[in-house]
Amino acid sequence: MSSIDMIIPRIEIDLGKIAHNAKTLKELYGSKGIDVIGVTKVVCGDPVIAGVLVKSGIAILADSRISNIVRMRDADIHAQFLLLRTPLSQSESVVKYVDISLNSELSVINEISKYAVKQNITHKIILMVELGDLREGIMPSDLGKAVNEVIKLKGIELAGIGSNLACFGGIKPNDEKMGYLSLLAEDTEKKFGLTLAFISGGNSANYDWFMSTKNVGRINNLRLGESIFLGRETLDRKPITDLFTDIFTLIAEVIESKTKPSLPFGDVCQDAFGNIPKFIDRGLMKRAILGVGLQDVLVSGLTPVSDIDILGASSDHIIIDAKQSEIKAGDTVEFNLNYGALLSAMTSPYIIKIYK
Ligand SMILES: *Cc1c(COP(=O)(O)O)cnc(C)c1O
Repeated sequence: MSSIDMIIPRIEIDLGKIAHNAKTLKELYGSKGIDVIGVTKVVCGDPVIAGVLVKSGIAILADSRISNIVRMRDADIHAQFLLLRTPLSQSESVVKYVDISLNSELSVINEISKYAVKQNITHKIILMVELGDLREGIMPSDLGKAVNEVIKLKGIELAGIGSNLACFGGIKPNDEKMGYLSLLAEDTEKKFGLTLAFISGGNSANYDWFMSTKNVGRINNLRLGESIFLGRETLDRKPITDLFTDIFTLIAEVIESKTKPSLPFGDVCQDAFGNIPKFIDRGLMKRAILGVGLQDVLVSGLTPVSDIDILGASSDHIIIDAKQSEIKAGDTVEFNLNYGALLSAMTSPYIIKIYK
């Protein structure tokens, strides 16, 4: 295989646009005293992209995987690293590679404490509080008890509290939820006589709340992934003013282009994924096949840049209605990606990453 053979399928990444989005969001949130943590999990901790975030003024990078954090550390990315998901079995690595971690289980924090003492390190933790989305978090009524335990642990610094909404339960971050988190922060500080450095209100879904609120209260931090990389808030996926929404482009090759019927002919049975497909007879149409499929990317998250339609996909192929376009074998077709498609394409070893 020559090097030319290897550049398709590829994802093109516009680093200048990433820098613009990161700087713009940092300034916007900074205008009301909120600092931005850059979340790198959707790009698998890509060191080139991480470097751009740091150059754009982002001082803390967060990822859900230690391997991604190690990847960035090994590439000499000068940032503080925060771990979003904290497994008990990886406590030793957490202490070794991570500066701050989000936590909601005392057994995990105990284990981290053990290794922190062993390694003579102080590890910072942010206690996550359940505000209704029903993913991670301590129930608010149990927060005081948890703080009381945590502050006794050696090698552990309680650096803050946080919440995560609009991820599992689709619960909206609003003034009520953020006000409650602020209140919990104040109660905790008063009761235990400490200062919480981080009151981390959420993620890209907090944009509408931020824009509409008259008072951010004690919220001084957000963890942003999607709005940096795709330029959108995540409640309705509305584009954010002045941000780029086309940073990533997937480029695939046409491997067949022919006029064929729109209705499969023969006895109908299951397709490659066990479904019985249904089709509408629209007569003859221009159809093309692309050399990329479900093993490479979440095809349902792709939007063609030109006027063609995706008809479906199998493991290795996307079938398109080429409509009026004159595409032939060897041509390329471009797609924009939503979060799921970006996540899968960046994770795929079959898709080459090209930086512009
Ligand atoms: C992924 C993640 C984020 C970032 O979410 P976006 O919607 O990409 O901004 C923030 N916090 C936690 C805990 C996460 O897991």
